[in-house]
Amino acid sequence: MLTLSNFRCERCGDCCRYLTVKLSKEDISAIKEKGFEEGFFVVFDDFIKSEVLKRDDKGCVFFDGGSCCKIYDFRPTVCKRYPFVEYDKVESCKPKLMKKSRDQ
Ligand code: SF4
Ligand code: SF4
Repeated sequence: MLTLSNFRCERCGDCCRYLTVKLSKEDISAIKEKGFEEGFFVVFDDFIKSEVLKRDDKGCVFFDGGSCCKIYDFRPTVCKRYPFVEYDKVESCKPKLMKKSRDQ
């Protein structure tokens, strides 16, 4: 079980590659202040009824395809909290394993 005290990110990049990131108005403003056009990184997701980060063939538009975030210092709140976005303890931070445990 992962907790805030024992979690260490291995920088595999899979969360940036596979997950949808919800954006708050504050997240959008903070990224725009750094010079990015809203149309470049924001899209409305009809399923979750929220603005989310756009994705391309690598995953998140700000993901470099390896292990780095191009906007790390001003990344969205969900990214800063991940993998403890909804809970203080999680089984895994790996999107594929999270899906597997939900499917079981
Ligand atoms: S999936 Fe987990 S280990 Fe991989 S980059 Fe994301 S938080 Fe780090
Ligand atoms: S903004 Fe950065 S940390 Fe968040 S999903 Fe995109 S690449 Fe990953």
